[in-house]
Amino acid sequence: MSITTDPIWVTDERPAPIACQAWCAYGDGHPNQLTALDQSCFGQEHLLPLSLEPLVNHNAPSDPEVDFRPEHLTLYLVKDYGREPAIHLDKGEATGVSMTPAEALALAQRLLTLASLLTTQPEHRPEPDVPGYCTCGTLTRLCVGQR
Ligand SMILES: [Zn+2]
Ligand SMILES: [Zn+2]
Repeated sequence: MSITTDPIWVTDERPAPIACQAWCAYGDGHPNQLTALDQSCFGQEHLLPLSLEPLVNHNAPSDPEVDFRPEHLTLYLVKDYGREPAIHLDKGEATGVSMTPAEALALAQRLLTLASLLTTQPEHRPEPDVPGYCTCGTLTRLCVGQR
């Protein structure tokens, strides 16, 4: 007598493929996941190295060799089962945050505002070519930046 049933891992019923999001990096409906809960769509990852953060060892803790590289942010779109599509942001291997499009836009606006405070602040020193004037464009005696 021969065994006619397939092993359980072959006959185990998989969920039907889903309609992937247009931006899904897989795009195949995730047919090989064990449950519908695992059928998440993921967009392309965008990596952003962080130069101000401490370097991170990318080797396993048990590895005597170390491989220090810059920490980074990872941004991607995600659509989990039963949830709205979201923008996800991770820092390195740590658990990150999911944002609605409105929240991501609000974050982007705040980042632009804060970054512009650091990058567009005028320098305040005597203008070498125009005596009596500050490099910010006002009279040196009236400039608050030089006091
Ligand atoms: Zn997908
Ligand atoms: Zn000034």
